[in-house]
Amino acid sequence: MDMEPGQNIIDLATERRRRGPRFDGEMMQILEVSRDLICLCRGGAITAINGAGARMLGGKTTEELIGRRMAEFLIPEYGPVLDLFLAGMASEDRPVPTRIQRLDGLTRDVELQVHRAREIAADATVVTCRDITKEGKLAGSAQDSDSRFHLLVDNSMNLVCHVVAGVIRYVNQAGLKMLGAAEPEAVLGRRLEEIFHPDYADLLKGEMIETAIAEDTSVPLRLHRQDGSNFDAIVKIAKLPSRTGQELMVEARDITAHNRAVMALRRANETLEMRVVSRTRELAEQRAKAEEMRQIADAARRFTERLTDTVPSPVWFRDARGNIQSANRAFRDLFGPGDGAAALPDEDAISDVELMAGTIERTSFEAAIMLPGGGRVDGLFLKTAFCDEEGRPVGTIGIMTDISDRKVMERELRRLATTDPLTGAHNRRNILSLTSNEMERCLRYGHEMSVLMLDVDVFKMINDRHGHATGDDALKALVATCKDSLRDIDAIGRMGGEEFAIMLPETGLSGALEVAERLRGNIEALRLKLADGGAIGITASIGLTTCRPEDVAVDILLNRADQALYRAKEAGRNRVEAG
Ligand code: GH3
Ligand code: MG
Ligand code: MG
Repeated sequence: MDMEPGQNIIDLATERRRRGPRFDGEMMQILEVSRDLICLCRGGAITAINGAGARMLGGKTTEELIGRRMAEFLIPEYGPVLDLFLAGMASEDRPVPTRIQRLDGLTRDVELQVHRAREIAADATVVTCRDITKEGKLAGSAQDSDSRFHLLVDNSMNLVCHVVAGVIRYVNQAGLKMLGAAEPEAVLGRRLEEIFHPDYADLLKGEMIETAIAEDTSVPLRLHRQDGSNFDAIVKIAKLPSRTGQELMVEARDITAHNRAVMALRRANETLEMRVVSRTRELAEQRAKAEEMRQIADAARRFTERLTDTVPSPVWFRDARGNIQSANRAFRDLFGPGDGAAALPDEDAISDVELMAGTIERTSFEAAIMLPGGGRVDGLFLKTAFCDEEGRPVGTIGIMTDISDRKVMERELRRLATTDPLTGAHNRRNILSLTSNEMERCLRYGHEMSVLMLDVDVFKMINDRHGHATGDDALKALVATCKDSLRDIDAIGRMGGEEFAIMLPETGLSGALEVAERLRGNIEALRLKLADGGAIGITASIGLTTCRPEDVAVDILLNRADQALYRAKEAGRNRVEAG
Protein backbone atom coordinates (compact mmCIF):
# COMPACT_ATOMS: atom_id res chain seq x y z
CA MET A 1 0.00 0.00 0.00
CA ASP A 2 1.80 3.06 -1.18
CA MET A 3 -0.58 5.93 -1.26
CA GLU A 4 -0.75 9.66 -0.63
CA PRO A 5 -0.96 10.29 3.16
CA GLY A 6 -4.30 12.13 3.03
CA GLN A 7 -5.85 9.35 0.95
CA ASN A 8 -4.37 6.90 3.37
CA ILE A 9 -6.08 8.48 6.35
CA ILE A 10 -9.46 8.68 4.70
CA ASP A 11 -9.17 5.01 4.00
CA LEU A 12 -8.09 4.42 7.54
CA ALA A 13 -10.98 6.36 8.86
CA THR A 14 -13.36 4.43 6.68
CA GLU A 15 -11.70 1.26 7.79
CA ARG A 16 -11.93 2.30 11.40
CA ARG A 17 -15.62 3.07 11.08
CA ARG A 18 -16.14 -0.29 9.50
CA ARG A 19 -14.02 -2.33 11.82
CA GLY A 20 -14.44 -0.65 15.12
CA PRO A 21 -12.69 1.76 17.38
CA ARG A 22 -9.25 0.17 17.76
CA PHE A 23 -6.14 -0.35 15.77
CA ASP A 24 -6.21 -4.07 16.24
CA GLY A 25 -3.51 -6.46 15.12
CA GLU A 26 -4.83 -6.81 11.59
CA MET A 27 -5.11 -3.05 11.23
CA MET A 28 -1.52 -2.59 12.40
CA GLN A 29 -0.38 -5.07 9.74
CA ILE A 30 -2.09 -2.96 7.11
CA LEU A 31 -0.49 0.20 8.46
CA GLU A 32 2.96 -1.43 8.39
CA VAL A 33 2.79 -1.18 4.62
CA SER A 34 2.87 2.62 4.72
CA ARG A 35 6.16 4.52 4.55
CA ASP A 36 4.53 7.47 6.41
CA LEU A 37 4.13 7.78 10.18
CA ILE A 38 0.70 6.73 11.25
CA CYS A 39 -0.19 6.74 14.88
CA LEU A 40 -3.15 6.87 17.23
CA CYS A 41 -2.98 9.35 20.11
CA ARG A 42 -5.10 9.68 23.22
CA GLY A 43 -4.91 13.09 24.86
CA GLY A 44 -1.78 13.74 22.84
CA ALA A 45 0.04 10.59 23.89
CA ILE A 46 0.91 7.86 21.41
CA THR A 47 -1.09 4.65 21.98
CA ALA A 48 -0.29 2.88 18.68
CA ILE A 49 2.27 3.61 15.95
CA ASN A 50 3.44 1.87 12.80
CA GLY A 51 7.07 0.83 12.13
CA ALA A 52 7.71 3.61 9.57
CA GLY A 53 6.50 6.09 12.19
CA ALA A 54 8.77 4.64 14.87
CA ARG A 55 11.73 4.91 12.51
CA MET A 56 10.82 8.48 11.53
CA LEU A 57 10.88 9.46 15.23
CA GLY A 58 14.27 7.71 15.68
CA GLY A 59 12.93 4.74 17.65
CA LYS A 60 14.22 1.22 17.22
CA THR A 61 10.92 -0.41 18.17
CA THR A 62 7.32 0.78 18.16
CA GLU A 63 7.04 -0.02 21.91
CA GLU A 64 9.69 2.57 22.64
CA LEU A 65 7.33 5.27 21.48
CA ILE A 66 4.09 4.18 23.13
CA GLY A 67 3.10 6.63 25.87
CA ARG A 68 5.29 9.48 24.62
CA ARG A 69 3.64 12.79 23.73
CA MET A 70 3.61 13.52 20.04
CA ALA A 71 4.42 17.14 20.79
CA GLU A 72 7.80 16.12 22.27
CA PHE A 73 9.07 15.53 18.80
CA LEU A 74 8.13 18.88 17.42
CA ILE A 75 10.47 21.82 17.66
CA PRO A 76 9.28 24.19 20.36
CA GLU A 77 7.43 26.70 18.17
CA TYR A 78 5.03 24.06 17.00
CA GLY A 79 4.70 21.96 20.11
CA PRO A 80 1.87 23.69 22.03
CA VAL A 81 -0.34 24.13 18.95
CA LEU A 82 0.02 20.57 18.03
CA ASP A 83 -0.75 19.51 21.56
CA LEU A 84 -4.13 21.15 21.17
CA PHE A 85 -4.70 19.27 17.94
CA LEU A 86 -3.64 16.08 19.47
CA ALA A 87 -5.88 16.56 22.46
CA GLY A 88 -8.71 16.68 19.95
CA MET A 89 -9.55 20.26 20.69
CA ALA A 90 -8.74 21.64 17.26
CA SER A 91 -8.33 20.21 13.85
CA GLU A 92 -6.56 21.14 10.68
CA ASP A 93 -7.92 20.31 7.30
CA ARG A 94 -4.60 20.64 5.54
CA PRO A 95 -1.25 19.06 6.32
CA VAL A 96 0.97 21.42 8.36
CA PRO A 97 4.58 21.78 7.26
CA THR A 98 6.72 21.48 10.36
CA ARG A 99 9.95 20.15 11.74
CA ILE A 100 10.46 17.29 14.09
CA GLN A 101 13.35 16.43 16.28
CA ARG A 102 13.95 12.76 16.60
CA LEU A 103 15.01 10.81 19.68
CA ASP A 104 18.58 10.86 18.34
CA GLY A 105 18.50 14.67 18.01
CA LEU A 106 18.35 14.81 14.21
CA THR A 107 15.68 17.02 12.72
CA ARG A 108 13.44 16.21 9.81
CA ASP A 109 11.12 18.40 7.81
CA VAL A 110 7.69 16.86 7.70
CA GLU A 111 4.12 17.45 6.67
CA LEU A 112 1.91 16.62 9.58
CA GLN A 113 -1.79 16.11 9.61
CA VAL A 114 -4.10 15.49 12.53
CA HIS A 115 -7.57 13.99 12.35
CA ARG A 116 -9.89 13.78 15.22
CA ALA A 117 -11.19 10.30 15.83
CA ARG A 118 -14.36 10.75 17.83
CA GLU A 119 -15.45 7.23 16.96
CA ILE A 120 -12.64 5.98 19.17
CA ALA A 121 -12.82 8.58 21.95
CA ALA A 122 -13.34 12.29 22.48
CA ASP A 123 -9.61 12.88 22.90
CA ALA A 124 -8.50 10.44 20.24
CA THR A 125 -6.64 11.61 17.17
CA VAL A 126 -4.99 9.93 14.24
CA VAL A 127 -1.71 11.56 13.25
CA THR A 128 0.06 11.09 9.97
CA CYS A 129 3.43 12.43 9.17
CA ARG A 130 5.27 12.50 5.86
CA ASP A 131 9.01 13.12 5.59
CA ILE A 132 9.58 15.95 3.11
CA THR A 133 13.21 16.71 3.98
CA LYS A 134 14.42 15.51 0.62
CA GLU A 135 11.75 17.41 -1.26
CA GLY A 136 12.91 20.74 0.30
CA LYS A 137 9.30 21.65 0.68
CA LEU A 138 9.62 23.24 4.09
CA ALA A 139 11.48 26.25 2.71
CA GLY A 140 8.39 27.36 0.84
CA SER A 141 6.15 26.54 3.69
CA ALA A 142 8.43 28.39 6.04
CA GLN A 143 8.30 31.44 3.77
CA ASP A 144 4.58 31.10 3.89
CA SER A 145 4.55 31.08 7.66
CA ASP A 146 7.14 33.91 7.72
CA SER A 147 4.81 36.20 5.83
CA ARG A 148 1.99 35.25 8.18
CA PHE A 149 4.29 36.00 11.09
CA HIS A 150 5.21 39.39 9.56
CA LEU A 151 1.58 40.24 9.07
CA LEU A 152 1.04 39.47 12.73
CA VAL A 153 3.96 41.51 14.02
CA ASP A 154 3.28 44.38 11.62
CA ASN A 155 -0.09 44.78 13.20
CA SER A 156 1.36 44.69 16.67
CA MET A 157 1.20 47.88 18.73
CA ASN A 158 4.65 47.12 20.10
CA LEU A 159 8.06 47.37 18.54
CA VAL A 160 9.08 43.97 17.24
CA CYS A 161 12.44 43.38 15.64
CA HIS A 162 14.41 40.42 14.48
CA VAL A 163 18.08 40.51 15.27
CA VAL A 164 20.62 38.23 13.71
CA ALA A 165 24.17 38.23 15.12
CA GLY A 166 23.50 41.56 16.84
CA VAL A 167 22.25 43.28 13.68
CA ILE A 168 18.65 44.35 13.15
CA ARG A 169 17.29 42.50 10.17
CA TYR A 170 13.64 43.26 10.52
CA VAL A 171 11.57 45.86 12.34
CA ASN A 172 7.81 46.23 12.25
CA GLN A 173 5.80 49.37 11.44
CA ALA A 174 5.03 50.13 15.08
CA GLY A 175 8.76 49.86 15.81
CA LEU A 176 9.66 52.33 13.05
CA LYS A 177 7.14 54.79 14.36
CA MET A 178 8.31 54.34 17.92
CA LEU A 179 11.92 54.94 16.93
CA GLY A 180 10.97 57.96 14.85
CA ALA A 181 12.32 56.38 11.66
CA ALA A 182 10.81 57.45 8.35
CA GLU A 183 11.76 54.24 6.56
CA PRO A 184 12.96 50.75 7.45
CA GLU A 185 16.42 51.49 6.02
CA ALA A 186 17.07 53.90 8.85
CA VAL A 187 16.96 50.98 11.26
CA LEU A 188 17.74 47.85 9.31
CA GLY A 189 21.40 46.88 9.34
CA ARG A 190 22.13 48.78 12.53
CA ARG A 191 23.32 47.07 15.68
CA LEU A 192 20.66 46.33 18.31
CA GLU A 193 22.32 48.47 21.02
CA GLU A 194 22.09 51.54 18.77
CA ILE A 195 18.36 51.81 19.26
CA PHE A 196 18.87 51.94 23.02
CA HIS A 197 20.00 54.77 25.24
CA PRO A 198 23.80 54.63 25.71
CA ASP A 199 23.34 53.84 29.43
CA TYR A 200 21.71 50.56 28.51
CA ALA A 201 23.83 49.70 25.49
CA ASP A 202 26.17 47.54 27.54
CA LEU A 203 23.28 45.40 28.63
CA LEU A 204 22.69 44.38 25.07
CA LYS A 205 26.21 43.23 24.30
CA GLY A 206 28.06 40.01 25.00
CA GLU A 207 27.23 37.97 28.07
CA MET A 208 24.90 40.53 29.56
CA ILE A 209 22.29 39.91 26.91
CA GLU A 210 22.54 36.17 27.46
CA THR A 211 21.66 36.78 31.10
CA ALA A 212 18.76 39.02 30.12
CA ILE A 213 17.45 36.31 27.83
CA ALA A 214 18.00 33.55 30.36
CA GLU A 215 15.97 35.43 32.94
CA ASP A 216 13.08 35.38 30.50
CA THR A 217 11.47 38.48 31.94
CA SER A 218 10.46 41.83 30.63
CA VAL A 219 12.80 44.60 31.70
CA PRO A 220 12.26 48.34 31.68
CA LEU A 221 14.84 49.97 29.39
CA ARG A 222 15.33 53.33 27.76
CA LEU A 223 15.26 53.50 23.98
CA HIS A 224 16.79 56.06 21.70
CA ARG A 225 14.89 57.79 18.91
CA GLN A 226 16.35 58.95 15.63
CA ASP A 227 16.01 62.59 16.69
CA GLY A 228 18.14 61.97 19.80
CA SER A 229 15.23 61.91 22.26
CA ASN A 230 14.58 58.92 24.48
CA PHE A 231 11.61 56.95 25.71
CA ASP A 232 11.00 54.25 28.24
CA ALA A 233 9.82 50.81 27.25
CA ILE A 234 9.29 47.38 28.68
CA VAL A 235 11.53 45.14 26.66
CA LYS A 236 11.42 41.42 26.18
CA ILE A 237 14.23 39.61 24.40
CA ALA A 238 13.74 36.04 23.25
CA LYS A 239 16.24 33.79 21.57
CA LEU A 240 15.05 32.10 18.40
CA PRO A 241 16.19 28.60 17.50
CA SER A 242 18.78 29.06 14.87
CA ARG A 243 21.58 27.12 13.31
CA THR A 244 23.12 30.12 11.64
CA GLY A 245 24.07 32.12 14.72
CA GLN A 246 22.42 34.12 17.49
CA GLU A 247 18.94 35.11 16.44
CA LEU A 248 16.88 37.30 18.72
CA MET A 249 13.34 38.51 18.79
CA VAL A 250 13.07 41.85 20.60
CA GLU A 251 9.76 43.26 21.64
CA ALA A 252 9.39 46.68 23.24
CA ARG A 253 6.28 48.29 24.62
CA ASP A 254 6.37 52.08 24.94
CA ILE A 255 5.54 52.92 28.54
CA THR A 256 5.89 56.70 28.21
CA ALA A 257 2.13 57.16 28.55
CA HIS A 258 2.11 54.66 31.36
CA ASN A 259 4.98 56.46 33.09
CA ARG A 260 3.27 59.77 32.54
CA ALA A 261 0.13 58.36 34.14
CA VAL A 262 2.21 57.00 37.02
CA MET A 263 3.90 60.37 37.41
CA ALA A 264 0.57 62.16 37.32
CA LEU A 265 -0.73 59.73 39.89
CA ARG A 266 2.35 60.26 42.03
CA ARG A 267 1.99 64.03 41.72
CA ALA A 268 -1.70 63.75 42.58
CA ASN A 269 -0.67 61.64 45.54
CA GLU A 270 1.94 64.16 46.59
CA THR A 271 -0.61 66.97 46.27
CA LEU A 272 -2.97 64.87 48.30
CA GLU A 273 -0.26 64.26 50.86
CA MET A 274 0.49 67.97 50.96
CA ARG A 275 -3.19 68.67 51.43
CA VAL A 276 -3.33 66.08 54.19
CA VAL A 277 -0.32 67.73 55.82
CA SER A 278 -1.82 71.22 55.55
CA ARG A 279 -5.21 69.97 56.68
CA THR A 280 -3.56 68.25 59.63
CA ARG A 281 -1.78 71.51 60.47
CA GLU A 282 -5.08 73.37 60.08
CA LEU A 283 -6.80 70.94 62.42
CA ALA A 284 -3.96 71.23 64.93
CA GLU A 285 -4.29 75.03 64.78
CA GLN A 286 -8.02 74.72 65.22
CA ARG A 287 -7.47 72.43 68.18
CA ALA A 288 -4.99 74.89 69.68
CA LYS A 289 -7.48 77.70 69.12
CA ALA A 290 -10.27 75.64 70.65
CA GLU A 291 -8.02 74.92 73.63
CA GLU A 292 -7.25 78.63 73.96
CA MET A 293 -10.97 79.44 73.74
CA ARG A 294 -11.68 76.79 76.33
CA GLN A 295 -9.08 78.33 78.65
CA ILE A 296 -10.57 81.79 78.11
CA ALA A 297 -14.05 80.39 78.75
CA ASP A 298 -12.70 78.62 81.83
CA ALA A 299 -11.12 81.80 83.11
CA ALA A 300 -14.33 83.71 82.36
CA ARG A 301 -16.33 81.09 84.21
CA ARG A 302 -13.96 81.22 87.19
CA PHE A 303 -14.12 85.01 87.14
CA THR A 304 -17.92 84.94 87.06
CA GLU A 305 -17.95 82.44 89.89
CA ARG A 306 -15.63 84.59 91.97
CA LEU A 307 -17.62 87.67 91.13
CA THR A 308 -20.95 86.14 92.03
CA ASP A 309 -19.40 84.72 95.20
CA THR A 310 -18.48 88.23 96.27
CA VAL A 311 -22.07 89.40 95.79
CA PRO A 312 -23.60 89.36 99.27
CA SER A 313 -27.04 88.44 97.95
CA PRO A 314 -27.94 84.92 96.92
CA VAL A 315 -27.63 84.45 93.12
CA TRP A 316 -28.69 81.32 91.29
CA PHE A 317 -29.18 79.93 87.80
CA ARG A 318 -31.96 77.53 86.95
CA ASP A 319 -31.91 75.52 83.71
CA ALA A 320 -34.92 75.01 81.43
CA ARG A 321 -36.11 72.16 83.63
CA GLY A 322 -36.03 74.32 86.71
CA ASN A 323 -33.03 72.60 88.28
CA ILE A 324 -30.57 74.88 90.01
CA GLN A 325 -27.39 74.55 87.95
CA SER A 326 -25.24 76.96 89.88
CA ALA A 327 -25.48 79.24 92.85
CA ASN A 328 -23.13 81.58 94.65
CA ARG A 329 -21.68 81.41 98.12
CA ALA A 330 -24.40 83.65 99.64
CA PHE A 331 -27.06 81.28 98.28
CA ARG A 332 -25.31 78.25 99.78
CA ASP A 333 -24.80 80.08 103.08
CA LEU A 334 -28.47 80.96 103.30
CA PHE A 335 -30.00 77.68 102.15
CA GLY A 336 -27.37 75.22 103.28
CA PRO A 337 -25.73 72.47 101.21
CA GLY A 338 -28.95 71.28 99.49
CA ASP A 339 -30.02 72.79 96.17
CA GLY A 340 -32.16 75.36 97.96
CA ALA A 341 -34.91 75.13 95.33
CA ALA A 342 -37.42 73.87 97.88
CA ALA A 343 -36.85 76.92 100.07
CA LEU A 344 -37.51 79.37 97.22
CA PRO A 345 -41.05 80.78 97.26
CA ASP A 346 -43.77 79.62 94.85
CA GLU A 347 -43.61 83.00 93.12
CA ASP A 348 -40.11 82.10 91.93
CA ALA A 349 -41.27 79.04 89.99
CA ILE A 350 -44.23 81.03 88.62
CA SER A 351 -41.93 83.81 87.39
CA ASP A 352 -39.69 81.16 85.76
CA VAL A 353 -42.61 79.92 83.68
CA GLU A 354 -43.20 83.42 82.30
CA LEU A 355 -39.50 84.05 81.69
CA MET A 356 -39.01 80.72 79.91
CA ALA A 357 -42.10 81.35 77.78
CA GLY A 358 -40.38 84.52 76.59
CA THR A 359 -43.38 86.72 77.40
CA ILE A 360 -41.21 88.83 79.71
CA GLU A 361 -37.46 89.38 79.97
CA ARG A 362 -37.25 90.29 83.63
CA THR A 363 -39.49 90.57 86.60
CA SER A 364 -39.34 91.31 90.30
CA PHE A 365 -41.44 90.51 93.31
CA GLU A 366 -41.27 90.47 97.06
CA ALA A 367 -41.77 87.25 98.96
CA ALA A 368 -41.00 85.81 102.32
CA ILE A 369 -39.02 82.58 102.59
CA MET A 370 -38.87 80.17 105.44
CA LEU A 371 -35.32 78.96 105.94
CA PRO A 372 -34.60 75.23 106.20
CA GLY A 373 -33.11 75.79 109.66
CA GLY A 374 -36.05 77.93 110.75
CA GLY A 375 -36.43 81.67 110.56
CA ARG A 376 -38.00 83.98 108.04
CA VAL A 377 -36.40 86.23 105.50
CA ASP A 378 -38.23 88.82 103.42
CA GLY A 379 -36.70 89.00 99.99
CA LEU A 380 -36.89 91.20 96.92
CA PHE A 381 -36.47 88.83 93.99
CA LEU A 382 -35.09 90.06 90.67
CA LYS A 383 -35.43 87.52 87.90
CA THR A 384 -33.94 87.65 84.39
CA ALA A 385 -34.23 85.26 81.48
CA PHE A 386 -30.86 83.82 80.40
CA CYS A 387 -30.98 83.57 76.61
CA ASP A 388 -28.87 81.82 74.00
CA GLU A 389 -27.33 83.60 71.00
CA GLU A 390 -30.66 83.56 69.17
CA GLY A 391 -32.45 85.10 72.11
CA ARG A 392 -34.24 81.96 73.21
CA PRO A 393 -34.52 81.59 76.98
CA VAL A 394 -32.46 78.63 78.19
CA GLY A 395 -32.67 79.34 81.87
CA THR A 396 -33.29 81.99 84.48
CA ILE A 397 -31.03 83.97 86.75
CA GLY A 398 -32.32 85.02 90.13
CA ILE A 399 -30.95 87.36 92.74
CA MET A 400 -32.53 87.84 96.11
CA THR A 401 -31.99 90.92 98.26
CA ASP A 402 -32.75 90.57 101.95
CA ILE A 403 -35.35 93.24 102.72
CA SER A 404 -36.35 91.89 106.13
CA ASP A 405 -35.31 95.14 107.92
CA ARG A 406 -37.23 97.27 105.51
CA LYS A 407 -40.25 95.00 105.89
CA VAL A 408 -40.12 95.33 109.68
CA MET A 409 -40.01 99.07 109.30
CA GLU A 410 -42.82 99.05 106.79
CA ARG A 411 -44.94 96.94 109.12
CA GLU A 412 -44.18 99.31 111.98
CA LEU A 413 -45.08 102.32 109.86
CA ARG A 414 -48.24 100.64 108.75
CA ARG A 415 -49.06 99.82 112.34
CA LEU A 416 -48.42 103.38 113.37
CA ALA A 417 -50.54 104.67 110.53
CA THR A 418 -53.46 102.45 111.48
CA THR A 419 -53.27 102.25 115.25
CA ASP A 420 -54.24 104.50 118.10
CA PRO A 421 -50.95 105.08 119.94
CA LEU A 422 -52.47 105.28 123.41
CA THR A 423 -54.63 102.17 123.45
CA GLY A 424 -53.30 100.05 120.56
CA ALA A 425 -56.79 99.90 119.11
CA HIS A 426 -57.31 100.72 115.42
CA ASN A 427 -57.40 104.42 114.80
CA ARG A 428 -60.57 106.09 113.56
CA ARG A 429 -59.63 106.01 109.88
CA ASN A 430 -58.67 102.34 110.00
CA ILE A 431 -61.72 101.09 111.89
CA LEU A 432 -63.88 103.00 109.43
CA SER A 433 -62.03 101.44 106.54
CA LEU A 434 -62.20 97.93 108.04
CA THR A 435 -65.88 98.31 108.78
CA SER A 436 -66.58 99.66 105.32
CA ASN A 437 -64.81 96.70 103.68
CA GLU A 438 -66.62 94.20 105.85
CA MET A 439 -69.95 95.87 105.09
CA GLU A 440 -69.31 95.57 101.38
CA ARG A 441 -68.41 91.90 101.69
CA CYS A 442 -71.40 91.29 103.96
CA LEU A 443 -73.87 92.92 101.60
CA ARG A 444 -72.45 91.15 98.54
CA TYR A 445 -72.65 87.70 100.07
CA GLY A 446 -75.71 88.30 102.25
CA HIS A 447 -73.81 87.70 105.48
CA GLU A 448 -74.53 89.27 108.84
CA MET A 449 -72.43 91.79 110.74
CA SER A 450 -72.93 94.09 113.68
CA VAL A 451 -71.35 97.26 115.04
CA LEU A 452 -71.13 98.47 118.63
CA MET A 453 -70.55 102.06 119.74
CA LEU A 454 -69.08 102.26 123.23
CA ASP A 455 -68.62 105.39 125.35
CA VAL A 456 -67.11 105.55 128.85
CA ASP A 457 -69.58 106.93 131.34
CA VAL A 458 -68.82 110.19 133.04
CA PHE A 459 -65.22 110.02 132.06
CA LYS A 460 -64.71 113.68 132.54
CA MET A 461 -65.23 113.08 136.26
CA ILE A 462 -62.47 110.41 136.39
CA ASN A 463 -60.04 112.83 134.78
CA ASP A 464 -61.13 115.53 137.12
CA ARG A 465 -60.85 113.37 140.26
CA HIS A 466 -57.79 111.21 139.55
CA GLY A 467 -55.85 113.05 136.91
CA HIS A 468 -55.47 112.75 133.15
CA ALA A 469 -52.88 109.96 133.42
CA THR A 470 -55.29 107.79 135.33
CA GLY A 471 -57.84 108.54 132.64
CA ASP A 472 -55.31 107.34 130.05
CA ASP A 473 -54.66 104.16 132.05
CA ALA A 474 -58.40 103.57 132.26
CA LEU A 475 -58.69 103.83 128.46
CA LYS A 476 -55.82 101.36 127.98
CA ALA A 477 -57.31 98.90 130.46
CA LEU A 478 -60.66 99.17 128.77
CA VAL A 479 -59.26 98.36 125.33
CA ALA A 480 -57.28 95.44 126.72
CA THR A 481 -60.38 94.06 128.38
CA CYS A 482 -62.38 94.45 125.17
CA LYS A 483 -59.69 92.69 123.10
CA ASP A 484 -59.69 89.83 125.60
CA SER A 485 -63.44 89.50 125.26
CA LEU A 486 -63.50 89.61 121.44
CA ARG A 487 -62.68 87.11 118.64
CA ASP A 488 -59.65 87.61 116.39
CA ILE A 489 -61.86 88.58 113.45
CA ASP A 490 -63.55 91.33 115.53
CA ALA A 491 -61.94 94.76 115.55
CA ILE A 492 -61.97 97.64 117.99
CA GLY A 493 -61.14 101.20 116.99
CA ARG A 494 -60.94 104.46 118.83
CA MET A 495 -63.36 106.95 117.30
CA GLY A 496 -62.14 109.78 119.51
CA GLY A 497 -61.79 110.68 123.22
CA GLU A 498 -63.35 107.87 125.26
CA GLU A 499 -65.56 106.56 122.45
CA PHE A 500 -64.89 103.29 120.63
CA ALA A 501 -66.42 101.40 117.67
CA ILE A 502 -66.37 97.59 117.63
CA MET A 503 -66.99 95.65 114.44
CA LEU A 504 -68.33 92.08 114.70
CA PRO A 505 -68.27 90.16 111.37
CA GLU A 506 -70.66 87.22 110.86
CA THR A 507 -72.73 88.34 113.83
CA GLY A 508 -76.47 88.95 113.95
CA LEU A 509 -78.50 90.98 116.45
CA SER A 510 -78.71 88.38 119.21
CA GLY A 511 -74.99 87.54 118.92
CA ALA A 512 -74.15 91.25 119.03
CA LEU A 513 -76.35 91.82 122.10
CA GLU A 514 -74.62 88.96 123.82
CA VAL A 515 -71.14 90.33 123.02
CA ALA A 516 -72.15 93.83 124.07
CA GLU A 517 -73.54 92.66 127.38
CA ARG A 518 -70.41 90.62 128.06
CA LEU A 519 -68.20 93.66 127.31
CA ARG A 520 -70.28 95.88 129.47
CA GLY A 521 -70.01 93.36 132.36
CA ASN A 522 -66.25 92.90 131.97
CA ILE A 523 -65.70 96.68 131.90
CA GLU A 524 -67.83 97.11 135.01
CA ALA A 525 -65.78 94.40 136.71
CA LEU A 526 -62.49 96.21 135.94
CA ARG A 527 -60.56 97.53 138.88
CA LEU A 528 -58.03 100.30 138.21
CA LYS A 529 -55.33 100.57 140.81
CA LEU A 530 -54.53 104.06 141.93
CA ALA A 531 -51.17 105.49 143.01
CA ASP A 532 -52.45 105.97 146.58
CA GLY A 533 -53.22 102.25 146.83
CA GLY A 534 -56.93 102.59 146.24
CA ALA A 535 -58.84 101.35 143.18
CA ILE A 536 -61.61 102.63 141.02
CA GLY A 537 -64.03 101.11 138.55
CA ILE A 538 -65.51 102.37 135.29
CA THR A 539 -68.62 101.65 133.28
CA ALA A 540 -69.47 102.12 129.64
CA SER A 541 -72.69 102.50 127.63
CA ILE A 542 -73.08 100.57 124.38
CA GLY A 543 -75.34 101.13 121.37
CA LEU A 544 -75.48 98.47 118.74
CA THR A 545 -76.95 97.80 115.33
CA THR A 546 -76.73 95.18 112.58
CA CYS A 547 -76.02 95.78 108.91
CA ARG A 548 -79.06 96.08 106.66
CA PRO A 549 -79.28 95.82 102.89
CA GLU A 550 -80.23 99.47 102.53
CA ASP A 551 -77.07 100.60 104.39
CA VAL A 552 -75.16 102.17 101.50
CA ALA A 553 -72.34 103.70 103.59
CA VAL A 554 -70.50 103.05 106.82
CA ASP A 555 -71.78 106.39 108.30
CA ILE A 556 -75.39 105.20 108.15
CA LEU A 557 -74.54 102.10 110.14
CA LEU A 558 -72.44 103.96 112.70
CA ASN A 559 -75.03 106.73 113.07
CA ARG A 560 -77.64 104.16 113.94
CA ALA A 561 -75.29 102.63 116.55
CA ASP A 562 -74.56 106.14 117.84
CA GLN A 563 -78.31 106.79 118.26
CA ALA A 564 -78.65 103.55 120.19
CA LEU A 565 -75.69 104.65 122.35
CA TYR A 566 -77.42 107.96 122.98
CA ARG A 567 -80.50 106.10 124.09
CA ALA A 568 -78.38 103.99 126.47
CA LYS A 569 -76.93 107.19 128.00
CA GLU A 570 -80.42 108.62 128.24
CA ALA A 571 -81.67 105.46 129.86
CA GLY A 572 -79.14 105.80 132.69
CA ARG A 573 -75.74 104.63 131.36
CA ASN A 574 -73.88 101.29 131.93
CA ARG A 575 -76.35 99.55 129.61
CA VAL A 576 -76.78 98.23 126.11
CA GLU A 577 -79.28 99.49 123.53
CA ALA A 578 -79.91 98.11 120.09
CA GLY A 579 -81.14 100.14 117.11
P1 GH3 B 1 -70.98 111.06 129.51
O1 GH3 B 1 -71.28 109.97 130.47
O2 GH3 B 1 -72.14 111.87 129.12
O3 GH3 B 1 -70.25 110.52 128.37
O4 GH3 B 1 -70.04 112.03 130.32
P2 GH3 B 1 -68.53 112.31 130.05
O5 GH3 B 1 -67.94 112.99 131.06
O6 GH3 B 1 -67.88 110.98 129.73
O7 GH3 B 1 -68.60 113.10 128.69
P3 GH3 B 1 -67.83 114.34 128.19
O8 GH3 B 1 -67.90 114.35 126.67
O9 GH3 B 1 -68.43 115.54 128.80
O10 GH3 B 1 -66.37 114.19 128.65
C1 GH3 B 1 -65.40 113.49 127.98
C2 GH3 B 1 -64.15 113.69 128.59
O11 GH3 B 1 -63.15 112.80 128.22
C3 GH3 B 1 -63.56 115.04 128.22
C4 GH3 B 1 -62.10 114.82 128.08
O12 GH3 B 1 -61.32 115.57 128.94
C5 GH3 B 1 -61.92 113.39 128.35
N1 GH3 B 1 -61.00 112.88 127.50
C6 GH3 B 1 -61.07 112.83 126.15
N2 GH3 B 1 -59.98 112.22 125.65
C7 GH3 B 1 -59.19 111.89 126.68
C8 GH3 B 1 -57.92 111.26 126.79
O13 GH3 B 1 -57.27 110.84 125.81
N3 GH3 B 1 -57.42 111.08 128.05
C9 GH3 B 1 -58.05 111.46 129.10
N4 GH3 B 1 -57.48 111.23 130.28
N5 GH3 B 1 -59.21 112.05 129.02
C10 GH3 B 1 -59.81 112.29 127.83
MG1 MG C 1 -68.35 109.69 128.02
MG1 MG D 1 -67.81 110.78 124.93
